[in-house]
Amino acid sequence: MEHSFLRNLLQSVHKDEAESKRRRLTLYFISYVGGTIMAVMAGINYGGDNPFLVGSLALSAVIIYLNLFLSHKFPKADFSYYLAGFIVMFTINALVYTGGYNNTGLYFLYPLIFIQIIVVSFKPAMLYVSVTMALAVFMLFNQELIHAQYSEADVSRFLISMACFICVSFIAENFWHQSRREMLEENLERMRQANTDPLTKLPNRRFLEAVYFEKVTKDPADYFPLSTVVVDIDHFKVINDSYGHDVGDEVLQYFTGLMKSAVRTTDIVARTGGEEFLVIFPKATLTQAIKLAEKIRIKVEQNPFDKGDIHHPITASFGVATALTDGNINATLKHADDNLYQAKKTGRNKVV
Ligand code: GH3
Ligand code: MG
Ligand code: MG
Repeated sequence: MEHSFLRNLLQSVHKDEAESKRRRLTLYFISYVGGTIMAVMAGINYGGDNPFLVGSLALSAVIIYLNLFLSHKFPKADFSYYLAGFIVMFTINALVYTGGYNNTGLYFLYPLIFIQIIVVSFKPAMLYVSVTMALAVFMLFNQELIHAQYSEADVSRFLISMACFICVSFIAENFWHQSRREMLEENLERMRQANTDPLTKLPNRRFLEAVYFEKVTKDPADYFPLSTVVVDIDHFKVINDSYGHDVGDEVLQYFTGLMKSAVRTTDIVARTGGEEFLVIFPKATLTQAIKLAEKIRIKVEQNPFDKGDIHHPITASFGVATALTDGNINATLKHADDNLYQAKKTGRNKVV
């Protein structure tokens, strides 16, 4: 299966679901739990001596819920992750600025930084964490500008432990992403092999059923009317019997080349059996498909197999049928098969 078109198709059914699930669940967790905690904390601290704390907690809670609403509304978009990263950045620096409850805000920076790394994802997270921590460090060394007061010992211990924590987190994240990449790559290669016929390198029946028809059913507007052509080489047994099985294999490869050169890259040529193939023309009506099948038939007829002293004409028979909706792909394939049978019965080397 060497077409990049087919490779992309395989890749598209093979996305990194685990990573997007992890990000998504982390986003929901931080948003539901974090948003609620912040709203409650704002309530508890309301009327106390720290109006900055109350204000920033309440504002964070509102923005978090708003972002959550947007991420449910646009589940495919990435912006809610980046916005969540900003909210975490704001929350961290609000905690540093206000000191949190009884100046204990710094303790909450560890989980928040980790959440930021997961939600924003590795490379952009480096930027987010750098900016977040640069702001925090600036405030910790210019405490006359902020509301909270931390002792010198607290600040130095906090910064050292936080630096260690950030390093370890990024190392762990790097290994998680790397091992997932390698696993996906291996998986894709295994999938490619399982979906390819080793002799002709054409996609096989499994590819059609597990990948192509799935894709077709997912985006019907891009594929229907979907025309199918069942192709069977005429009297192939004679080739095997006359020249041997190895020459038969070469003829199959040669025949594959002829068919592929007669169709576009977005059409599918698959090997579904010994000397039986299925050609699929997406977005083609029955009339168009019959013309295209006729084009292949003539190409095959006009290009006999020539090798050494073997000169053998090849012909094939074609059964065409068109599916108008995704509900009748199987019936269409059956119909195309019946038409092939008719072509064989009524003289071969023809399109029915
Ligand atoms: P028809 O015109 O009715 O289709 O006749 P046919 O001889 O092509 O059909 P039949 O089904 O009688 O024979 C198909 C032959 O294809 C039999 C089988 O040995 C041969 N065959 C199947 N797979 C392969 C293969 O991978 N390589 C080779 N060389 N031959 C194969
Ligand atoms: Mg045959
Ligand atoms: Mg056959």
